[in-house]
Parts: sequence; structure tokens; C-alpha cells
Amino acid sequence: MKRFKDKVAIVTGGASGIGLATIREFFAEGAKVVIADFSDKGADIAAEFNQERSESALFIKVDVSQEEQVKNLFVETVKFFGKVDIVFANAGIADQGRITDISLADWDRIMGVNLTGVFLTDKFAVEQFLAQGSPGVIINCGSAHSLVAKTGITAYPAAKGGVKMLTQTLANDYAKDGIRVNTVAPGYIETPIIARANSEAKERLVSLHPMGRLGEPREIARGVLFLASEDASFITGTILPIDGGYTSV
Ligand code: NAD
Repeated sequence: MKRFKDKVAIVTGGASGIGLATIREFFAEGAKVVIADFSDKGADIAAEFNQERSESALFIKVDVSQEEQVKNLFVETVKFFGKVDIVFANAGIADQGRITDISLADWDRIMGVNLTGVFLTDKFAVEQFLAQGSPGVIINCGSAHSLVAKTGITAYPAAKGGVKMLTQTLANDYAKDGIRVNTVAPGYIETPIIARANSEAKERLVSLHPMGRLGEPREIARGVLFLASEDASFITGTILPIDGGYTSV
């Protein structure tokens, strides 16, 4: 199935975990992909894709918390591919600590990537969609913690809750322009973020999911592709939990 033939998809944080799985799924379904990440691993991944289908993948090094760099991400994408159709604002970092354990600098670091990074990515996406005169689709990466809190983590749920509300505001503001904006809300997923947890901590995380396991990055990617596709043509402003039941307990 080539649902995304000739579509141009930008994925921030596309060099690892959920972002990389999503890049792989978009590419497999015919899209041209932009791996937007501050890790240089993105260059090798783009080269691998270009071997299979030439000039179909681009790596752009970006720190999503920096306005000029995110602006440049869109400028360079349009220079290379001519347009943008789909944006997955996925880059994010993990966080630990109660409010008394974290400093303002810790808070700012999490907010800078997990909320400001999504704000900047969405802002330049909307500007590009309006300028090119063909509406695109935005999917933001929230979390189960966009919907429910978790004791011992302070800034992360605050940022991810903000992603949910930003999504709904943009969906309302740009619905008439044909731009759809949605959020996926993963439960705990087997990615490098989780790999750093010890086995006891991992077991505790598993027990929070009624399905009795963590998710796979590909299971989130599939949800992102659904929201980006024509099958979701009447869906905007929603948050799609993909969490093995985490938020339904
Ligand atoms: P990951 O660490 O495997 O990948 C994150 C990628 O983002 C990395 O390639 C990293 O280089 C990049 N990145 C980090 N900060 C960046 C920045 N400032 N600018 C550009 N790129 C940056 O993590 P993941 O688990 O795939 O997480 C992806 C998203 O999914 C995040 O938003 C995360 O909060 C969310 N999420 C993850 C889980 C989980 O359990 N893994 C659960 C819920 C939500």
C-alpha cells in the first residue's frame, strides 16, 4: 500500500525510537521523509533510505527548542522537496523529579524541548501550509501523561498536557483552512528512553498497562500514519491514546 506516495513528511526526533519507526513506515508507504534531529545518526539513516530510493530522504540537524533552527528546517525542506504535507512533532526528552528536586533550569530544559519545541514546529508548519496554499496535517507527540499525571515527574506531564491543549487550539484556529492537528498519546514504549531504566523499574512500568507489556515504536507509528491519512479526514483536535489501556484504569 502506498498511501503517501509523493507526500513530504517531516519527523522531528526522527533518528531514534518512535520517530525512526514513523520515518520507516512513511518511507515504506511511498513518502519522501525528512529526519529532523539533533543527533547526527540521522545522516546515516537518510543515506540508507536514499540507497533504496534516491533523493527520497533528507537529514536536517535541528534543535527543536531553537526558533532559527526550526525555521531553517522548513526552509531547507521546501528548498529540497518543494513542499511539506505532514509534520510529526515528536522530539522529546524524559524527566525525573518532584518539584523540590528540580531546578528552574531542569524545568526550562524539559519545557524547551517538549512544549516549546512542539510550538515552534507547529508554528512553522502552519505558516508553510498557508504559504504553499495546500493544507497539511500535523500530528504532535503527547503521552499518556498528557491525560494523567504520574507521581515523581513534574515538568514532563506539564509539558505534555500543554501539547494536548496546543493541539486543540490549533485544530480550532485552522480547521477552516483545511489543516488538521491531532496528538498521539503513547503509553510506555520500548525505546532508548526506556532502555535506560533498570529491570525493576521496567517491571513497574509494565504493570501499569492492562495489556501486560510495553508498546512497540511501530504501534505508535501506525497511529501517526492513520491520523496523517485520508482515513482520518474528519478527525481534528483529538488525542489518540495508544497505551495498552494505561489511561483507562
Ligand atoms: P528517543 O530518545 O528514542 O528518541 C528521541 C529523539 O529525539 C532522539 O533521536 C533525539 O536525538 C531527538 N531529540 C531530543 N531532543 C531533541 C531536540 N531538542 N531537537 C531535536 N531532536 C531532539 O525517544 P522516544 O521514546 O522515541 O520518544 C519520542 C517521543 O515520544 C517523545 O516526545 C516522548 O516524550 C514521547 N513518548 C515516549 C514514550 C516512551 O515510553 N518511549 C512514552 C510516551 C511519549
